[in-house]
Amino acid sequence: MSTVTIVGGGVIGTMHAWFALARGHRVRQIERDLEARSASVRNFGLVWVSGRRDGTELQLALRARELWAEIGAVVPGVGFRPHGSLTVALTDGELDVMSSYAATPAAADRDTVLLDPDEVRRAEPAVRGPVVGALHCRRDAIVEPRVLLPSLRDAMAATGRYEHVPGRHVVAHDGAVAIDHLGDRHEADLLVVCPGATHDGLLADRLATAPVRRRRLQMMQTAPTDLRLTSSIADAESLRYYPAYEHLDLAPLGDRSAVAARHDLQLLLVQRLDGSLTIGDTHDDDEPFPFDVDEEPYEHLAERAATILGAPLPPVLRRWAGVYSVLHPDTDPSIVYHHDEVEPGVVLVTGAGGRGMTLSPAIAERTWEAL
Ligand SMILES: Cc1cc2nc3c(=O)[nH]c(=O)nc-3n(C[C@H](O)[C@H](O)[C@H](O)COP(=O)(O)OP(=O)(O)OC[C@H]3O[C@@H](n4cnc5c(N)ncnc54)[C@H](O)[C@@H]3O)c2cc1C
Repeated sequence: MSTVTIVGGGVIGTMHAWFALARGHRVRQIERDLEARSASVRNFGLVWVSGRRDGTELQLALRARELWAEIGAVVPGVGFRPHGSLTVALTDGELDVMSSYAATPAAADRDTVLLDPDEVRRAEPAVRGPVVGALHCRRDAIVEPRVLLPSLRDAMAATGRYEHVPGRHVVAHDGAVAIDHLGDRHEADLLVVCPGATHDGLLADRLATAPVRRRRLQMMQTAPTDLRLTSSIADAESLRYYPAYEHLDLAPLGDRSAVAARHDLQLLLVQRLDGSLTIGDTHDDDEPFPFDVDEEPYEHLAERAATILGAPLPPVLRRWAGVYSVLHPDTDPSIVYHHDEVEPGVVLVTGAGGRGMTLSPAIAERTWEAL
């Protein structure tokens, strides 16, 4: 049995801890905040297979989807629901693009079919807007970002081989020994650093030359609603965003609205277990990022969500922004995240971008297989 130190309490670090324990190791996980507060708790909780690029990215997503189902079965607090998704068309042009996609093997690979308006309403009675069709991906799923990390930690603590060390910022390392901001040395045989979008902290020298950058997104959450959604919802803007659709002729989508183009936005809508709706998002790559959130994209997203649901949205109770680490766009597409064997016994994993929640169990499994 080896002793492993994981730096980072986000989902990538937590999944590395999970799979290290499964291999019989003793694990210490160090998080600088008292509770992880970064991308892993700010996201939609979408286990999103539908948009993934053919090749390694899709293979990892399909494997991760299986792993999430297995983990969800033993840790109910993960909130795993195999609910599928609907990417809805509001115009004939959007439907044309979706029809051409549905006819490709790529759709079958992702368990995705085209639905007509009646089928959409049968699949998802909460969608009552003027929808002319939808792509239905039966492989997509949902987890609960605000509660899954503590639930996984509780399950890991039950092994007797896991220790969570919050409130310690790892500022240096000496081989596999992590050194925190109070000068404590955490002895281990292996150090796995999962710092998320903190590119200027531990291993900053490696990250400065790594093919990663940061991206900021805006999100909101409504009050709980009596509407019961059985799928996650995306609008057709997502066809411009996800690589699964990159070979399609997107011209029938028409021009983006000025607001959508300005904020590079797409609508994603997920119902939480308490009935509230998580809605987003925008994409901003220009640092320094704003410290405040901008109202303009929220108005647009709320209007679009209400149009698709055919019902007014419940009041918005929370708004926030999140930042993730993502690979440079010109990175070889067969590379899906940043994995760096810094030196013997020290591994750095980050840069999974907007797919990190989805892929996290498969990424961690892969790290341990490689080790
Ligand atoms: C708004 C938003 C929506 C998203 N939606 C989805 C989605 O629906 N589906 C999906 O698949 N992906 C989604 N993503 C992407 C996903 O959330 C991220 O890829 C993933 O959470 C990254 O996990 P992480 O553990 O690498 O990083 P983080 O969650 O950022 O965690 C890193 C942790 O490391 C800690 N840390 C850093 N340095 C140190 C140090 N030196 N010492 C101690 N602790 C340290 C930080 O405090 C932090 O808690 C979304 C992201 C955002 C921002």
